[in-house]
Amino acid sequence: MEKYDALIFGHKNPDTDSICASLVQEKYNKNNGWNTKAVRLGNINKETEYVLKYLGIDAPKLINEVADGQDVILVDHNAFAQSVNNIENAHIQMVVDHHRISNFETKEPLYYIAKPYGCTCTILFEEFKNANMKIEKKEALLMLSAIVSDTLLFKSPTCTKYDVEAAKELGKIAEVDVQTYGLDMLKAGTDLSDFSPSELINIDSKEFVTGNYKFQVAQINVTSIEDVLENKSSIEKAMENFMTENGTNLFIFLITDILNNDSQSIVLGDTKLFEKAFGQTVENNMALLEGVVSRKKQIVPVILEALEKMGN
Ligand code: MG
Ligand code: MG
Ligand code: MG
Repeated sequence: MEKYDALIFGHKNPDTDSICASLVQEKYNKNNGWNTKAVRLGNINKETEYVLKYLGIDAPKLINEVADGQDVILVDHNAFAQSVNNIENAHIQMVVDHHRISNFETKEPLYYIAKPYGCTCTILFEEFKNANMKIEKKEALLMLSAIVSDTLLFKSPTCTKYDVEAAKELGKIAEVDVQTYGLDMLKAGTDLSDFSPSELINIDSKEFVTGNYKFQVAQINVTSIEDVLENKSSIEKAMENFMTENGTNLFIFLITDILNNDSQSIVLGDTKLFEKAFGQTVENNMALLEGVVSRKKQIVPVILEALEKMGN
């Protein structure tokens, strides 16, 4: 690979924000004369594929690990468990992120831009603004797509007024109707027909580690929960295999209905903790979480609090 000042990437099992933020950060750096390259840490999902096709651009190159001392820029994540292999030995120049900061440590000073917004691309939108940098049509659509994806078209509790404002302006630059384009993009992501059960649980899956406790929260967006549940037993088998391989204590698989904003969860492993956390019974390995669409705001903090209470 050509020599770059730094590689830019989002989290493993990349979502639209991880891919789009990497590409937009690359453009921002280029405008500043910085020769950096967006890469990715996993397969492109159908939703992101829709965005890239719409723009007629290629996905960033896939990498699996980085060399010792490699200069890197992290977007849309900071936790090492969700980052590239060998991140511990890389040189992190910068982080642009909208998640809680966890298990993160560097040996050297760095740029760290964190805002509690609904999307990394909303932060990048403000970076362009602050630098008086013109936003081109392509970057506008990339940022808009990421905002729509992360906020589920502004319906997620993670959505802030900054995301809404940014999307409005980006929609104008990109010359698209935000609602129409947004729903088409989200719907493209609900086509899961090509995925095997083990792929399904990995499309958008994140590991969380606290002390000795490991939990996994995976999520898919659908327009029909029932369709997915037809394959429930094979999904459960895939989850079980994953847990054995990774030493996972608790696995929550969220099947999120993007039209009604409810999530059906399949819960395996430490279901007792799940029940304590959510005050709901797990029956047949399932619990319906009404109005729950956000892993970051409605799942992870609830689990962490329950773990703390139980002295983990
Ligand atoms: Mg993400
Ligand atoms: Mg994000
Ligand atoms: Mg997401």
